[in-house]
Amino acid sequence: MFTYYARRWLLPRRLLGHEIGDRLLKAAAERMAQHAGGQESLARVGGDEFTLLLENHGSEGSISQQCQQLINAMKKPFLIDGHELLLGASIGISIFPDTAKEAQSMINQSDMAVYQAKRSGGNNFQFYRSNMRVASVEQLALETSLRKAIFKNEFVVHYQPKMNLASNRITSVEALVRWQHPTMGLLPPADFIPLAEETGLISAIGELVLERSCRQAHKWQKQGLGEICVSVNLSAHQFRKGNVAETIDRVLSTTELSPHLLELELTESLIMEDMEQNIELLQQLRSRGVELALDDFGTGYSSLSYLKRFPVDTLKIDRSFIMELDKNPDDAAITRAIIDMAHSLKMNVIAEGVETADHLSILRDMHCDSIQGYLISRPVPESELLELLHTQAYRDAIDH
Ligand code: C2E
Ligand code: CA
Ligand code: CA
Repeated sequence: MFTYYARRWLLPRRLLGHEIGDRLLKAAAERMAQHAGGQESLARVGGDEFTLLLENHGSEGSISQQCQQLINAMKKPFLIDGHELLLGASIGISIFPDTAKEAQSMINQSDMAVYQAKRSGGNNFQFYRSNMRVASVEQLALETSLRKAIFKNEFVVHYQPKMNLASNRITSVEALVRWQHPTMGLLPPADFIPLAEETGLISAIGELVLERSCRQAHKWQKQGLGEICVSVNLSAHQFRKGNVAETIDRVLSTTELSPHLLELELTESLIMEDMEQNIELLQQLRSRGVELALDDFGTGYSSLSYLKRFPVDTLKIDRSFIMELDKNPDDAAITRAIIDMAHSLKMNVIAEGVETADHLSILRDMHCDSIQGYLISRPVPESELLELLHTQAYRDAIDH
């Protein structure tokens, strides 16, 4: 028994209207039936939730294989009315009579398993395990405290400098959120962003980070520390909500930050969720003067035909290519290719995760524009960043 969620169905339904949403749902169900294997029963049990009953299933290994095939099939885009739409799938599995002996407990178990599958990022499958019950209760507690954290103002923003290699100066910083949890201490984004995405709370958190970072960048400028651009990560959920442009306008106007000092970091997969609509939105943002960067570049589609259509100013080479830049010739070749390609498309390029002086000198030789990483500084609280900026302003004054 599987419970299957094609959870992003709700999105095109809301953005593109019921008709397209419903056709997408139908196409998804057809594709699912095609790839489900043969003598099974498939039923839709909720908005974007399906149940698949497999009789005479094989071992866990063969079920896993079947799930992976189904997920791969569901990850391929659906073309509906000229819109290229992406769904994806999370699958929870309960096995009769190994873990459940009646229908209701099978449904409950596959529900718990699908919850885990979604929590671990989606597009994967999980077998029900008896310890999942405990995890779900913990998750619920975390979800409740995450909601409260927004009102209790428990989020803090750390800033990680980016250094321009032509001037050797910090010209911008990336805002990275942390949760100052009352009992668990300072939590990194990996501990709460997936949950915040799943529950939709990421939009509120993202807005908070955006507003705080813009206010901060404006303050640095007023303090005579120069024009420091602030980069803010945008989540897919914020895009799906459909009011990104209004939010940015409002924040820029209340914080009085000049638009060219705000950069938004987004990923290819986020843009690809609804390419036409998102490209239009990005063009709107860019026409306001806001900078756009493509984060984690090299890990997603990285298709040239798409890339030339994305209205972005900067490519951010993913840390995975930089980590072994000095040891792995393939990584070095890819990095060089990305830098050359970015430049021929008139884009800037930044490498993230630069940890050693060797990385830096290789990237300099490759004419990379900027770097970010522990070599320059870890993400630090505002007060520490202020010290770095003061030192830089002091040096600038001496140099002139
Ligand atoms: P990201 O956008 O790729 O951010 C870079 C991550 O790499 C950060 O992790 C940073 O601390 C880490 N990093 C930077 N330089 C180095 C290095 O030299 N070596 C190593 N090993 N790591 C380095 P962090 O702060 O844990 O953030 C993780 C992810 O959480 C971010 O990945 C971003 O996707 C997400 N995130 C953080 N803040 C926000 C936010 O305000 N909104 C949204 N939507 N996502 C956020
Ligand atoms: Ca980022
Ligand atoms: Ca990144």
